[in-house]
Amino acid sequence: MSIEDFKATVEHAFSRFRMMNELHIIGGEPLLNDKLPDMLEWLHDSFGAYINQVIIVTNATILPSGRLMNALRETRFTLLLSDYTREIPELTNRFNQVIGLAKENHIPYGVTFHPFVDYGYDLEEHGSSFRSCVQKSPYLCHEIRGDKIFYCTQARINNEIRGYGYKEDGISLVTSTDEELESYIHGALFGHETCKRCRGADAIKYSCPMGRQMK
Ligand code: SF4
Repeated sequence: MSIEDFKATVEHAFSRFRMMNELHIIGGEPLLNDKLPDMLEWLHDSFGAYINQVIIVTNATILPSGRLMNALRETRFTLLLSDYTREIPELTNRFNQVIGLAKENHIPYGVTFHPFVDYGYDLEEHGSSFRSCVQKSPYLCHEIRGDKIFYCTQARINNEIRGYGYKEDGISLVTSTDEELESYIHGALFGHETCKRCRGADAIKYSCPMGRQMK
């Protein structure tokens, strides 16, 4: 994502929402983006007062640059390390290096573990629902890209990348009415089409192996 697209995305979000509890910057891998320090500084200066916590999620396979360390130290944004070392032990050295750098530089950081799970999108209806997912899953969050908000990151990813054929277009932050936006986000009509074919919170029972980078 370019810094221009990043700014536009955040501005679109704040054109409809006054405050955010948590804003997560995810990837791919955000640390691959050379402009990340500039994005964080801009975010802090422009909207930092309206966000309770900003979290940058990394797989801890890349050493943060000096510029990124400075930006994190100054903004007090949190670096959240996804710990894949339990399943891929060869990542341990680099993971510990990133933690060491965060400690040395007094960067707020946390460690999390997300198992890889199979949401079951390639199967027929599971009868999972948006509402039960929202109640049970700590990982559910909305995704904002450009001028659109999507009710669930998984649905967008599966629709866009894995191509199981589900339609998930999100809703415009520019042209939707307040009623349409609220109805979409809260799944007021008993969830969304994708949810019917998704294991939702139950996906945690269907773990699958993590991919490995061989070189
Ligand atoms: S698509 Fe699946 S993970 Fe996303 S809200 Fe619906 S049930 Fe939950």
